Parts: sequence; structure tokens; C-alpha cells
Amino acid sequence: MTDAFDEAGKQALRRKYREERDKRLRPDGNDQYIRLTGRFAHYLDDPYTPVTERDPKTDHVTVAFIGGGFAGLVTGARLKEAGVEDVRIVEKGGDFGGTWYWNRYPGAQCDTASFVYMPLLEETGHMPSEKYAHGPEILEHCRRIGKHYGLYDNALFHTEVLDLTWDERRSRWTIRTNRGDAFTAQFVAMGIGPLHVPKLPGIPGIDDFAGHSFHTSRWDYAYTGGDPTGAPLDGLADKRVAVIGTGATAVQCVPHLARACKELYVFQRTPSSVDVRDNHPIDPEWFATIATPGWQQRWLENFTANQAGGLADDDLVMDGWTDIARRYRSRIRAIPPEELNQAAMLAAFEDADFEKMEEIRARVDSVVRDPETARALKAWYRQLCKRPCFHDEYLQAFNVPGTHLVDTDGEGVTRITERGVVAAGREYEVDCIIYASGFEVGTDYTRRAGYDLVGRDGVTLSEHWADGMRTLHGIHVHGFPNAFLVQPTQGANLISNIPHNLTEAGRTIAAVVKHALDHGNAQVEPSKEAEDGWVELLLTGAGPLLGSPDCTPGYYNNEGQDPGRKGRLNVGHPHGAMAYFAYIDGWRRSGDFTGLQFRS
Ligand code: NDP
Repeated sequence: MTDAFDEAGKQALRRKYREERDKRLRPDGNDQYIRLTGRFAHYLDDPYTPVTERDPKTDHVTVAFIGGGFAGLVTGARLKEAGVEDVRIVEKGGDFGGTWYWNRYPGAQCDTASFVYMPLLEETGHMPSEKYAHGPEILEHCRRIGKHYGLYDNALFHTEVLDLTWDERRSRWTIRTNRGDAFTAQFVAMGIGPLHVPKLPGIPGIDDFAGHSFHTSRWDYAYTGGDPTGAPLDGLADKRVAVIGTGATAVQCVPHLARACKELYVFQRTPSSVDVRDNHPIDPEWFATIATPGWQQRWLENFTANQAGGLADDDLVMDGWTDIARRYRSRIRAIPPEELNQAAMLAAFEDADFEKMEEIRARVDSVVRDPETARALKAWYRQLCKRPCFHDEYLQAFNVPGTHLVDTDGEGVTRITERGVVAAGREYEVDCIIYASGFEVGTDYTRRAGYDLVGRDGVTLSEHWADGMRTLHGIHVHGFPNAFLVQPTQGANLISNIPHNLTEAGRTIAAVVKHALDHGNAQVEPSKEAEDGWVELLLTGAGPLLGSPDCTPGYYNNEGQDPGRKGRLNVGHPHGAMAYFAYIDGWRRSGDFTGLQFRS
């Protein structure tokens, strides 16, 4: 498609997008998925690290951090740098790493360039080996951060928080866990991650299957053979395997399965858009030329400026994420100033998107040999309706003999039987079902956390957020003194590089905790006015960045359901990620911490 693509063609595309969306809309929304409790609880077992016995903790720490992924690591690192030594990370996995601890499926790799995705590279002196690092390297980097900053010393692994209660009299939190711990902390921070509770499709008969099955986030290498570094999955040579789901995870593991399985059936409800990846090793000589002091912050800011609509002059990362914005910007710049209005901007955005998606669809035809399979692999929606994927072997996998796409035309798998999977009117007998069905999103924070916070006067966080999330800066919550959130919403809300949100939050928290400790303050809490003011500011924006109801259903748009008033608050700074980062940097530097109340 070119700029000359005519209005009739655009109308046809809009119609096609709507038809494909309508096929997939379903009344049950998020309720179509099942939680992994009761008879499904074994899906959550840790296949990677044995649980070791230890005595319950009943001591006191200065800061407790819930979650040992990037959020906990970067906040822990900044606290240590600020001189706060007594930091305890509580983590349900057997080591640091968060999503990279759990997701060890073959081919796991980050879609965001390692220079901006992997935090604290400069501080730890690590040069990523590839432009897009693979899972094992990222997991190792998490361990590197843990060791570098001494975060292992006090950490509690294989430990889940059950209860977090504010003790006003003693100005501290009491933390109870599933390991019998009941310790206290002056400050608590939480980085539970947006995608950490695996979900299964609520398909009838899911419990009847007599073969082997697992979720991609608990990959069973004992069954498949191979390992997370990509060694062949030789246990599957005589196996018929079903993969359910075709999101970012499936896109990465399907090529490995295609090479290994006797027969592979990939069950598709909605195709992903799969753009080129173009990964390459990092040349140390080149790296030495760019890795001058402050390099990672420069790359971070440049990526965000490019991706989040800023007007950066150069594009250091130059990839599929920044390409979206590049195309849009060049169109906007071509509009004469007197014609630049909201309608013109939206039209430019749509044109850029049509152009991009036509290229992605044409790529399918150029790679996939079977025309029917190629037709079914084309994504008919705007690129940011669903998580964009980038891969150079996924589409090719459908040319491998024995690999079959089972397209269900939006319906999905309809039944699981003792023998296999029923879809598109046929039963497929298989030995193993691999659920690449994703993670809980769009459910309440406290449900995903697995505990509620009980703040001042016994008010719980879910009560405080009954009408939607309310924070100051996405970090502080009125009524919950000395508690901090580490996550993107109501902050920068930058989705293409979540760690940038986390590193900034880590800096902010370290600055606030240090200030409180230096001044002998027992408590710090945002005033109600400050929290209300921030929420008001957020509501002046254009609304959620993602999640248009015009999109095909998915977790970006609450499965196509109206997210209601609560959803209106799942936004970032009204002027974008760059504006938020600039604002919060100034707020921290001023040392006034406007909006926070420190008490002795
Ligand atoms: P997703 O939620 O993206 O995908 C789940 C898949 O399961 C979808 O294709 C969904 O179809 C499908 N599905 C659900 N129910 C059924 C059914 N009844 N029948 C058939 N198919 C069904 O999960 P992922 O684990 O793939 O990815 C989650 C997120 O994790 C990503 O969006 C990304 O943010 C992150 N991630 C990042 C990676 C990276 O950086 N490289 C790699 C992997 C994950 P439908 O689309 O129709 O709902």
C-alpha cells in the first residue's frame, strides 16, 4: 500500500477489520479463562528449583520488596546505592528473574532491544550478546544484579505474601507469608509484574485429557528434552503435540517445536502480526565506541522519545517499535501547519498503520508456501490492537513438514477430550498439549497480587480502588503510608519498554525512603489532595493508549468488553511518557517531594 491508497480501499480494510473483530467478540470476556487453583494448581508448580526448608522470619527490616523481577531488582539496587542496606526481597520463584525465571520455554527472547530493556547494564558492566537477548542471558543478568547489589543476602525465595497490614502505632507493615513468616518492615514496595499469573482457556473437557500437558511458563523439559538455551527437544521426536494459542510466546516456541515434533498442531484463534526481527550479535568493538559514561540513560531516553511520539532527531535502536512512530511522524511532518488538526493526525496514524499492516501481511505470502495457511496467518487489525510480534522463524515453521496450522476462524478450541483437541469441527489426537494461553491481565491488582493491603484504619487497597486505581505518580497511595508501587500505570505507562518505567520508579522510591530516613521520619504518605490532583490530571488526557473497542479482542482492550469507569484510570501522563519522566526527574531533584507528607 502507498499513500495513494484510495478511500475505497481504506473502507474495505476498515470493514474487514470490523468483521474479523466481530467474529471474536464474546460475552464472557475475561471470564472465558480459568484460574489455576484446585485441580489445576499443579500447573503452577516450580519445575526449575527445589523448595528448601527454612525457619520462618519474625524480624524487622527497613524495606521489604514484594517481587524479585526487574522491579524489585532495580528498586533494591537504587536503595542500596542510596545507602539503605536493609532490603529484603520476597519472591514466589526460586530465584530472582520474575517473568524470566518462569518463562524458560525454548526460544524465549525479549522483543525490546537489550540495550534499553536490560536494566543496570552500565552499573554492572555487562554488554548484551545480542541486539535482542534470549531468556537465559536475561535471567543471568537478573542474578548478576542480585549479586552486584548484595540483594541475595536477605532475600526470601519460594515465598508468597498472604497478608500485608499497616501498624499505625508502630509505623510499620506486618508481612505474613505462606512460609509462616510474620516479619515487619518500615517500608514496603511491590513489583508484582503485570503478567505473572498463568491462565488456561476455560475449554470444556480441559480436565479430561489423558496425555501430558503444561503451560509455557512452566516448560516441562523433563518431557520434551532440550533446554532453555535451544538444545533440540529430542523427547518430542515421536510425539504429536498441540500448541494452543498464537501470541508472543507461541511465536517464539513454535519454531523449536516444529523442528522437534513428529506432528505439531498449532491451534489459532487470532493470528499475531509478525514483523521482521533482524537480530544480530553485538560487536564488542562497536560497543566500546558507544558505551561512554551515561550511555544507557541516553539510549533509554532516545528509545522512549522515538517510540512514545517525541521528536528525537536520531533513532539509536531503529527497530519495529520505533518504525511505527517513525512512519507516523513523517506523515505528520508532511501536513501543512494550517491543516494540522486532530482529524488530520488520526488519519495520518491510520494511513501509517494500513501501510505497515499491508507489509506484514505481504510478508506472510512471501514466506509461507501453502496459500491457505498463508491466508489464515494474516492479521486483520491495526498493529497496536494486539501485542506486535517480531520473528524470523515463526512463519517459516509452517513450511516444515509435519507442522500444521489449525485455524479456527476466531472460534478457538471448542473442546478437549481424553485423546486430544477439538477445533474447527475435528478432533486432533495428540500426546501432549502445550498451553500458550497467556496470563491474567485486566483483573484487579489485589487479585493478581494474591493479597490485599490493609492500610490505615483497616481500609483495604481494593476498597480504596473500588472505583478504579488512585495514586500519586503511579507510586504512592493515600491511606497506605510507607507503601510504594512499581509499575507503569498512572506513571509513564510506556508499554514498549516496561523496565524504563520500573527504573524511574526505583529511583523515586530510593529518593523518598532516603529522605525519610535522613530526616528521622517514621511515615511518608501522599495527601488526599495530591492524589486527587494527580488523578484529575490523568483524566485530562485522551484516555487509554491501548484498548480501542474497535480492536479485535485481547488483553489490550479488556477482551473487547467495556472496561467501565475503572478502565478510564488505566492511563499514563496526559502528555506522554517523556513528559512523565521529565516531570518526575524534576520532582525528585527539587527535594521538596511536593504532595508527600513526611511525619515523625
Ligand atoms: P497471549 O495472551 O498474548 O496469547 C494467548 C493466546 O492464546 C492468544 O493467541 C489467544 O487467542 C489464545 N487462546 C486463548 N484461548 C483460546 C482458545 N480457546 N482457543 C485457541 N486459542 C486461544 O499470551 P502470551 O503468553 O503469548 O504473551 C503474553 C504477553 O507476554 C505478550 O503479549 C507480551 O507482552 C509478553 N511476552 C513478551 C515476549 C517478548 O518480549 N518477546 C515473549 C512472550 C510474551 P486470541 O488472540 O484470540 O485471544
